[in-house]
Amino acid sequence: MANETTIKFDDCGHLLCPECGGEYLHIESLDAYAAGSDLDYKFDCREGGMRGGGARFTLWCEFCHAKPILHIQHHKGNTYIFHTGVEGGKR
Ligand SMILES: [Zn+2]
Repeated sequence: MANETTIKFDDCGHLLCPECGGEYLHIESLDAYAAGSDLDYKFDCREGGMRGGGARFTLWCEFCHAKPILHIQHHKGNTYIFHTGVEGGKR
């Protein structure tokens, strides 16, 4: 996966910021989409790309102010969860 980042949690189940590892992530917005939508994320390494519909959350980190994008996406019977497109941050 070229630009995707695996999500991480701490021992309490808090989702961690992919930029700084902080656990204070806020949900700024949510977009749900159908298969074939312009928002559908396409992996480079998957045959036929990633096309299944899903949801995209824009998050905001209270520690470093980055805006990671969290995807939950369906493809051929599997559901994937990953980050892409971190904006901002202090690093
Ligand atoms: Zn952060």
